[in-house]
Amino acid sequence: MPLTLRYTARSDVGLIREGNEDSGYAGPFLLVVADGMGGHAAGEVASAAAVDVLSHVHPPDADEDPVSLLADAIDRANSRIRDLIDADPSREGMGTTVTALLWTGERLTVAHIGDSRAYHLRSGKLHQITQDHTFVQALVDEGKITEDEARAHPARSLVLRALDGRGDPEPDIFAVEVQAGDRFLVCSDGLSGVVTDTTLQEVLNTESSLEATADTLVELALRGGAPDNVTVVLAEIVENDGTKPGEALVVGAADEPRDRRRRFWHMRGESAERRDEPEPDPELLRYAPRPPRRFAWLRRLVLVALLVGVAFVGGREFLNWTQTQYYVGVDSGSVAIFQGLSQSIGPLNLSELDERVEGLPVEALPPYYREQVEASISAADRADATRIVERLRQQACLTNPPVVTTPAPTPTPTPATTPGATSPAPTSATSPVPTPVPAQPVQATPRYPGLVCPEETNQ
Ligand code: CA
Repeated sequence: MPLTLRYTARSDVGLIREGNEDSGYAGPFLLVVADGMGGHAAGEVASAAAVDVLSHVHPPDADEDPVSLLADAIDRANSRIRDLIDADPSREGMGTTVTALLWTGERLTVAHIGDSRAYHLRSGKLHQITQDHTFVQALVDEGKITEDEARAHPARSLVLRALDGRGDPEPDIFAVEVQAGDRFLVCSDGLSGVVTDTTLQEVLNTESSLEATADTLVELALRGGAPDNVTVVLAEIVENDGTKPGEALVVGAADEPRDRRRRFWHMRGESAERRDEPEPDPELLRYAPRPPRRFAWLRRLVLVALLVGVAFVGGREFLNWTQTQYYVGVDSGSVAIFQGLSQSIGPLNLSELDERVEGLPVEALPPYYREQVEASISAADRADATRIVERLRQQACLTNPPVVTTPAPTPTPTPATTPGATSPAPTSATSPVPTPVPAQPVQATPRYPGLVCPEETNQ
């Protein structure tokens, strides 16, 4: 019997935030959660824009690749955000997470960027099928902290990738095979940051209707203090009994008409001018989609401190101290580790090349990471610099899929897949849809000229 999708959606401002910067969408073939960031009401503009663009995705025809369809929609959403920033520069820095599931009648194709989550419930077991693009997740992956520590980590909401109108968005895109009875939960970190996976699994198993499940989940987040906006999109795979699908649901910021939002601000007695004032905003501090900028103030501070240090403490000690510092940057087109500080004081260069990393050309990195390296990434020490390099290599290998080589000597004429001169997005060109696991390295063969990937990667 053919399968169909049942769905529902909820969004709640939570108990602390003034406005809802989350947006959600649930329709007969598309589920989306977008968690806006940027503060000063720009986050809601970003998330609403993403949901608006994605909600215009049409159900894929038989000859259409859902992966390309979603990748193109994400690109368009990113361009829309760029246009919105161009139209109002006070929105500079705004962005949004996007987790979107596209139903094709047989499977779900997932596009994901940021720290919203998609979970899959089958046979009573709940699995998170997206990987958080966060600082703490990177620490967990490296084995530096545990999942429990990540939950309480002060930088737990630091998002490393988001749709922010710049560069090429690099969503993870993958397909999930489904069967009748499967349930899917897509949510913002306002839910997953407050309610544990164990509780989520329990609720998804005990509540029978999707509506009751969604209500309970929001209720649990509120009871947990709901420090952030909470958005829940739920779906269930059922056998198609001919019942017509209901209307699509739009929740959160995307559901708020723009003028109503403006009225809200006026009611609060806050003019547009006032909102543009650079006052500290917790959301701005919580999210840093562009880490190099996060360190910009720190760099300036360090520089000032250094100048003061040079003047008062004496040049020798200061120079000795700089030699205990490390950063990752670029040397002759390769990722490289430098000893010292990336800043220079006038003509005085404060660093020297420590190691030009073999097999890691900067051009092989995804644009986001390339920018980071070009702006230089500070390391805590030499070992930390090595870890940063390995993480960069992982990203380069992930985004440059292996060159397909025919395993058997069967002389079938294969179209020559050459590693292009530019790094191909992992999303657009792969025609047979890869199954489940997001962002996991597949097999390591050199795929970008000069790029060396580990022989085996842990699962
Ligand atoms: Ca959030």
